[in-house]
Parts: sequence; structure tokens; C-alpha cells
Amino acid sequence: MSPSGRDADFLSLSALQHFAYCPRQFALIHIEQQWAENRFTAEGQVLHERVNDGEPEHRGDLHIARSLRLICHSLQVTGVADVVEFHPVDDDTGCQLPGRPGNWQPYPVEYKRGRSKADDWDRIQLCAQAMALEEMLNTAVPEGALFYGKPRRRERVALDAGLRDKTRDLARAARMMLEHGQTPAPEPGPKCDHCSLREICVPDSTSASAYLHRMLD
Ligand code: SF4
Repeated sequence: MSPSGRDADFLSLSALQHFAYCPRQFALIHIEQQWAENRFTAEGQVLHERVNDGEPEHRGDLHIARSLRLICHSLQVTGVADVVEFHPVDDDTGCQLPGRPGNWQPYPVEYKRGRSKADDWDRIQLCAQAMALEEMLNTAVPEGALFYGKPRRRERVALDAGLRDKTRDLARAARMMLEHGQTPAPEPGPKCDHCSLREICVPDSTSASAYLHRMLD
């Protein structure tokens, strides 16, 4: 992936997810232009290539679009959705598709390596995709899904008001951090064990240097 989080004044969807995961990770990548791969980022890359490497598909009543370019002006976020399913609807909700009669409900599906997480990092990225689809297709997107590789399982995500507020707040905070250009201090935690930037970040350095100061005082 490109480490760049900006497309003019827009954040990338992945930058938003970086910020949700760890503001310091976001700043190291998108302000300081640092990047490092680890097993987790490499596996994620392979998974996305596999998912995105496909033509649009009709499966029964379902229409499946892949690698759909998205833009959300209200969040100032842009990026690519792995998969957007379009489910047929019987009423006048949803959107229309070229060459396909009737109305269709967009349903974003984001693919992730690993397992479902208690934190909302991945749900926020999905929510931003849904908000982009709503703007672009002028229809409501109340639900989407995350597909996790281990175990292979689809998790339905209700895109409710709370998640939307959180997504808006994070997008605003990420843009402010970019404007100010300051990298925050590490906040060590279990997430650091999976972070590819651990060696660059040195998350335990703050506590280590505080310890050294105490010893030398
Ligand atoms: S090592 Fe931890 S504190 Fe440092 S960038 Fe990664 S997640 Fe954030």
C-alpha cells in the first residue's frame, strides 16, 4: 500500500483506520512518512489482492462490485471498497444499477485478516465506506459486514448513529492532526504486539527513559 494518507484534502479510508487503531501509528505513517511491513500487514495485503482481483459478478439475485472507488465529501475521506453487494429490493428504496432493472440495496463488505475485535477500528472503516455510498448513490446504507479470515466468518455491522458519530469525530481529529503535523507520544498496549511500526515507534521508550531517570536521580 502507499503510505500516503492524503488525496488533496481528503483522508484515505486506510488512514482513518490507522488513526482509529492508534493516533501515533497514523502520525508515523501519514505525517512522518514511515512505513514497515510485518506478517500481519503482508497477510492483509495478500487477502485484499485476492478479493479485489475479480470482475463484477452476478450471483443469483445478487450483484457484486469489487474495488469500488468511493468518496465521501462530508467526512472528506476517499478510498476503495473491497466488495459492495447490491441486494434486490421490492420497494422504491435503494438505488438503480445500469443495465439491471429494479432497485438495489448497497451492502459494503470489508475483508480483514485475523479475528473480530472488540474495538471499533474495522467498523469505523466500514462505516465510512457506507457513508460514502450513501452520498454517491443517494440512498441509506443501514448495514454492512466485515469478513474475517480466522475463522472465516462474516460479522454483520449495524451502522447506527453512535458508530457514525464516532466515525465523524475520528475523521475530524485525524485531519486536525495532519494539519498540526505533530506526532503524539506512544500509548503502549496490547495493540503494539501487532503493529508493524513497533521498532520505529519504540512504545516502551517513554517508560524506559522515565525508569532510567529515576535510577540516575
Ligand atoms: S507500537 Fe503501539 S503506540 Fe506505537 S504506533 Fe504501534 S500501536 Fe501505536
